Amino acid sequence: MARAATALRPIIEAWEWQTVGLCRDRSTAQFFHPDDDLGRISRRLREAAAKRLCLSCPVRAQCATHALTVGEDYGVWGGFTETDRARLREAGWRDALGDDGLVDVAMLERRLGRAAAPVSVNRPRSSQR
Ligand code: SF4
Repeated sequence: MARAATALRPIIEAWEWQTVGLCRDRSTAQFFHPDDDLGRISRRLREAAAKRLCLSCPVRAQCATHALTVGEDYGVWGGFTETDRARLREAGWRDALGDDGLVDVAMLERRLGRAAAPVSVNRPRSSQR
């Protein structure tokens, strides 16, 4: 069965935000832990460094929205670790979606019991308030 034309979107638009992410030139090892590194201090240090970078990333909201929407199981996305996303799935996150289709990362940080850091967001002009 053919899909409605309105449901079809150019794939490049869905991934365009990744071209301006602050991690684009970083090693993936900073954001995705090796299999044998579960629960080790080095993992926590790596995750903390990745999350610090995410805090000032202009596409943090897009990144976090993507990871939560598709159910990314691994890695740090939008400043949220695997554990953070599991907690958000349990606590609920869809109410943090704005009219622009992006999550409010400050709201999600508060939901995790963390103080919301200043958020740098690269939103489409039409959705800026
Ligand atoms: S929010 Fe973090 S993981 Fe996502 S693109 Fe930016 S730096 Fe990369």
